[in-house]
Amino acid sequence: MADLARMSINQATTREQHSLAQAITAYTQAGVPGISIWRDKLAACGLDEAVRMVNDHGLRISGLCRAGQFPAADAATRQANLDENRAAIDEAAALGAECLIVVAGGLPDGSKDLPGARQMIRDGLGSLLPHARAAGVAMAIEPLHPMYAGDRCAINTLSQALDLCDDLGDGVGVAVDVYHLWWDPHLQAQIKRAGERILAFHVCDWLLPTTDLLLDRGMMGDGVIDIPQIRDWVERTGYGGLIEVEIFSAENWWKRPGDEVIRTCLERFKSNV
Ligand code: ZN
Repeated sequence: MADLARMSINQATTREQHSLAQAITAYTQAGVPGISIWRDKLAACGLDEAVRMVNDHGLRISGLCRAGQFPAADAATRQANLDENRAAIDEAAALGAECLIVVAGGLPDGSKDLPGARQMIRDGLGSLLPHARAAGVAMAIEPLHPMYAGDRCAINTLSQALDLCDDLGDGVGVAVDVYHLWWDPHLQAQIKRAGERILAFHVCDWLLPTTDLLLDRGMMGDGVIDIPQIRDWVERTGYGGLIEVEIFSAENWWKRPGDEVIRTCLERFKSNV
């Protein structure tokens, strides 16, 4: 049974129900000690107001979503993306977020050059690192399921993400999300390899059937992922950070009242994580 003192909810889980201010209030009232914040919701709230609310409520921030999107067809766009990423680093620092989530980006428009996209990801991360290190912000590379390699993220296994970390050095780590990684036959070994570089741990479930590539994630216990097994592997590395519930569910959980979603997250966190 997972300890509720280590629970966080990614605000995307109630993105249709709550503004950032509403999410902070609702999660706190439910006794959830952590939140992961999205930059679009943060912009709507205002950074200063968000920092004040988070501090007033004593919330921990398991992550800021997100930086990344490194590959692009031309240098000007790549540069603009880097500038945006530096703004994300500054926001993560102001919020005291425990990491900045990096979703690296897929193929540039019109491209079929996957190795080239991966090189742009490596170069982009390398360019950001001095700013992130100076700000004291740890960047968490989140490998995404290979179905997103074309359009969202060309880093698709924990092994790939850790190779990048090996290459780049201090200031980068990984986010382990059961939804993206559960199928990998090398997952246990790669989690062990990650060790203290695990900066975030995300949970939800894989539904059978999955009806939408992006927006049909399941509540823990409703799918086929052995979440306690993966949590055990993660915790054997010494990971003692927050465990973040992250569910994008356009046709189910986003249509239910926010209080019901949070209550169910709490119940399933106890019984299925
Ligand atoms: Zn995630």
